[in-house]
Amino acid sequence: MTVETEPQLAIFGSSPAFAEPLHVGRPNVGDRAAIMARIEGILDRNWLTNDGPLVREFEDAVARLHGVRHCVAMCNGTIALEIAIRALGLTGEVIVPAFTFVATAHALQWQEITPVFCDVDPATHNIDVGRIEELITPRTSGILAVHLWGRPCNVERLEDIARLRNLGLLFDAAHAFGASHNGVMIGNFGDAEVLSFHATKVLNSFEGGAVLTNNDDLASRMKLMRNFGFVGVDSVGYVGTNGKMTEVCAAMGLASLESFDMFLAANQVNYDAYASTLAGLTGIELVRYDGADRRSRHYVVVEVGDDCPLTRDELWKVLVSENVLARRYFFPGVHRMEPYRSFFPHARLLVPQTARLAERVLTLPTGASVGVDDIGVVAGILRRAIAASDQVHRCLAEVGIEADVSYSGTVAQASR
Ligand SMILES: *Cc1c(COP(=O)(O)O)cnc(C)c1O
Repeated sequence: MTVETEPQLAIFGSSPAFAEPLHVGRPNVGDRAAIMARIEGILDRNWLTNDGPLVREFEDAVARLHGVRHCVAMCNGTIALEIAIRALGLTGEVIVPAFTFVATAHALQWQEITPVFCDVDPATHNIDVGRIEELITPRTSGILAVHLWGRPCNVERLEDIARLRNLGLLFDAAHAFGASHNGVMIGNFGDAEVLSFHATKVLNSFEGGAVLTNNDDLASRMKLMRNFGFVGVDSVGYVGTNGKMTEVCAAMGLASLESFDMFLAANQVNYDAYASTLAGLTGIELVRYDGADRRSRHYVVVEVGDDCPLTRDELWKVLVSENVLARRYFFPGVHRMEPYRSFFPHARLLVPQTARLAERVLTLPTGASVGVDDIGVVAGILRRAIAASDQVHRCLAEVGIEADVSYSGTVAQASR
């Protein structure tokens, strides 16, 4: 009888590879002194919110970076989506992918517009443009597509469909800050594109969002809607909400912009480190950011193939036990979350590729706070687990995959 030696992994009782958790979406923080200096200025002016000078400066800078006429800053990406949807006059049904963060669908459902889930293309993870037309009904008013992982959708085809079928076209560009498509920056496609500056995004303003558009009317409607519909001092033109960005958020956004090239450089180095250290690992495929276009590489995503001796969930469990808090974005798919799961129990029939991807992808930690040495350790863990797949499989079968996976304390630092 041979005695198997247990590999050095925390699931077998070794101490975790990382004493402190390694997060996905740990905030990128730029130059502290630059942030503080701007905050001093805010307090000196005593102008805290309501279209202040830093919000305007931030809007101008973001619009310039994307080569777009208007950037309308908001308090967060979700409200920015809601306002863009309303300002564009979408009603009834809107076609949207289910392989996305839940806010994409919520922004529709919140205003009683029905999200109609469209499957994604397994090669790009973006909305499958070949499946959209069969979902159009007399109630369809628009398409809300997502540039997942910051890789732009097939915007040409989407613009064709929208024009031919007379539909509004919005993009959830929450992942796509600073990205380009065939040399044209995000913000210039469809009717409008929506950014998020949440703490976990490549460029953050603590919380924040914006709508980019070249449509003057749409921009002025959105500016009124984010400020209760006020058209004059005591005069309200129509229903609005409070979607304003504060000055302190704009201060953070401006400081983040100053450090943006540094964030991009860190992501590039980290991405290359993952690519080289994961190379040749059976069944582990890195989502690629090929070509000459600009990409933030803020999402390091691996697809765990059928040829991998361990499942995505097994690898996830191994990593979490080592304090590598990888995320299963966007498991289980929006169509399997409430209220959509109850509203559309048949939705899984429409989105088989979404279901498949949701079981296969894993997002790994990157960003300015993650170093190349950390990545070597993460890759080493994956390598050891795969090499000892039989033992890992047996060990996890005993404890159960979902058992005590804990992200305690991560909410404040990184969230979701
Ligand atoms: C982050 C995110 C949002 C929501 O943005 P918030 O600023 O957090 O409200 C919407 N869609 C996608 C795809 C996101 O990743």
